[in-house]
Amino acid sequence: MKKIIIVSNRLPLKVEKNEKSIVFTPTSGGLATGLKSIHESDNALWIGWPGVSKEELNETQVDQIQKSLREMNFKPVHLDNEQVENFYLGLSNKSIWPLFHYFKQNVVFDENQWNAYVQVNEQFAQAIIEEIKPGDTLWVHDYQLMLVPKLIRQKVPDVTIGFFLHIPFPSFEIFRIFPKRREILSGLIGADLIGFHTYDYERHFLSSVKRILHLEVNFNTINNEGREVVVNTFPMGIDFEKFQAVSKTHSEIDKSQYGEIRKQLSSHREHTNGKLILSIDRLDYTKGILNRIEAFEIFLQRFPEYHEKIRLVMVIVPSRSEVSHYKQLKKKTDESIGRVNGLFSTVNWTPIWYYYRSFEFNDLIDLYRECEIGMVTPLRDGMNLVAKEFLATKIDSKGILILSELAGASKELHHALLVNPFDTLSLSDAIHEAINMSDAEQVERNKPMRERIRRYDIHEWSKRFMKELGAISERVSEDQTVKIKSKEQNTILQSFNLAKNRLLLLDYDGTLTGFHVNHKKAIPSEKLLKTIKVLSENNSTNVVIISGRSSDFLEKHFGHLYIDLIAEHGHLIRTKGTSKWKEKNISSNDWMPHILPIMQQFADNTPGTFVEIKKNSLVWHYRKTDPELGIIKSEELKTILSSMISNEVHLMNGDKIIEIVSSSVNKGTAAVERLDSSNYDFILAAGDDITDEDMFHYLPPRAINIKVGLKDTVAKYRIVDPIAMVDFLEQLTHSF
Ligand code: UDP
Repeated sequence: MKKIIIVSNRLPLKVEKNEKSIVFTPTSGGLATGLKSIHESDNALWIGWPGVSKEELNETQVDQIQKSLREMNFKPVHLDNEQVENFYLGLSNKSIWPLFHYFKQNVVFDENQWNAYVQVNEQFAQAIIEEIKPGDTLWVHDYQLMLVPKLIRQKVPDVTIGFFLHIPFPSFEIFRIFPKRREILSGLIGADLIGFHTYDYERHFLSSVKRILHLEVNFNTINNEGREVVVNTFPMGIDFEKFQAVSKTHSEIDKSQYGEIRKQLSSHREHTNGKLILSIDRLDYTKGILNRIEAFEIFLQRFPEYHEKIRLVMVIVPSRSEVSHYKQLKKKTDESIGRVNGLFSTVNWTPIWYYYRSFEFNDLIDLYRECEIGMVTPLRDGMNLVAKEFLATKIDSKGILILSELAGASKELHHALLVNPFDTLSLSDAIHEAINMSDAEQVERNKPMRERIRRYDIHEWSKRFMKELGAISERVSEDQTVKIKSKEQNTILQSFNLAKNRLLLLDYDGTLTGFHVNHKKAIPSEKLLKTIKVLSENNSTNVVIISGRSSDFLEKHFGHLYIDLIAEHGHLIRTKGTSKWKEKNISSNDWMPHILPIMQQFADNTPGTFVEIKKNSLVWHYRKTDPELGIIKSEELKTILSSMISNEVHLMNGDKIIEIVSSSVNKGTAAVERLDSSNYDFILAAGDDITDEDMFHYLPPRAINIKVGLKDTVAKYRIVDPIAMVDFLEQLTHSF
């Protein structure tokens, strides 16, 4: 039975430790709730750090924990104090966290901490490898474990891997600063599916993949050396029904049964008849706590009529208090709150009620219920669940949410009072507007938002992610082409061995050599040249390089070999043993002077692009320009050229090139001509792009057609990339 493995830095467990024993109890936070049904399924396992460092445990306890957690479908990864310090508090929270939240000034990058990050990711990967089998599914969570997908893919390729990032993915201009940017990206793209909270994060990620790894991206799919990686948006929700149900129960409770916090909050209303503003965050510089206090101060200055009426209830949950930026923030927060209370308090009224602690679920519900205004104004936040929870408890749809545009939640909750958290004056206006908003407007705004978070709740979030992951794994197994593995290779080798007269038709770029930003630098490897030489020296084997490249290029790199060369998609041919290129008779190249100036104009206006002039074709290359600009400009050029050209030429949309070429000749016609001259009992053709499809199409059914790469094809076989293709050709030489 296939297994599902969930991996997160921390296991969703509460640890209770006394002198004699350690007791772990499952918690029901957001992620744990979302993954509950998956985790409780028959063959599931959740791997993560249990929350107790190695030093706190003796060997017997380690064994006991392993056993008792296994009974609850958990597997611990034990970390020591130094690892927690360097990997978790260090690289994860002093480097990745601030950078991904656009707090460049807070980033501390330390090579030792990076090494610890690599080491802990490897430790997690090892724990997974001990459990995972081909065909299983793995779902890795968050920024602490971004190297894990690749580490698993390298060791167990045939598993389905999902990754979800719970924090923002920053814009390329921010991400590019990170010293280990390539490692992070290539770690992530080991996955089959990468999920983000919002489309912005998805867009930023794809932009970095294109610009840093130079990989091909087609809409939301990355071509990772022949393997598709899908990137998509899955905004994380909350357990709406639970929040709503508990809120409803609380609405029916008799006053005498009120909890402590509810008593305090409702006494505020009795005494002031004014509204309460709620703010709940972990103590984190991303949450905009100081800006919020400042905005409230400005509000009190500008609107004195609300003194002794309005109160800000600030709940700040202690977090990462070992990290210095958090310590400083705590100090500044205490000072700011003290200052505002000092300035405005009266005998009957303190403007800010401040709680530096966390609350039990029932108290949290009371806080949400009793406060009319929810003020959620982070400077940057991946999602922000507090905003959604606040709305979920408003069972009569009354209440006002002031929400930062820079929280992921703002993409879904656009009926809230959206604010720029850096603009504290406008924030104070928003407070004023919230206080004075009519009940009817509140209901009108909240109803669609409540409906949205009800429908797309935490269960739906995990269901959709798993569904898409499942669909990807099915798509991979449904590909009609056959990936050449050892079985297929043996069959092809057998017929190669038995044949008396063989023909190998090989495209060059993308088939025998990978692409390079400078096309002149995409030259044949030594291994390729040696392999072709050995093949060509066998009397029964005829090798043909059939390429869109110019005759000069082919001459320069392959001219010394005893093989046929076909250049410019069939326009120029040099037969083996001769040194002369024969040109195909084509009507004329009269079209060239009309097309060339247009292409040159595009090359002048688009930095990094250039025109290549071949004997029978013109090519505009755009691989070196910004990838997005390249796509826009290529579409523009295609539109212009299509309106100009006649039947005598055709436009080819190749890999980062646009080529105009005479239509009387193509690789297909050239290949067929080559066939006519001899009687072959083994024909193999390999190519990667649309021009090679002509060749596959024209060849007789007995030909073995191989597509190199991922694109759609009529070929029967597929090989992932040029490196694997050259390996395959080398295998053929072993028969001699
Ligand atoms: N929360 C809690 N106890 C508290 C205050 C908050 O359990 O005393 C929870 C809150 O219900 C929410 C989470 O902490 O689910 C905060 O999530 P959010 O996405 O808003 O911010 P994060 O802390 O993940 O950055």
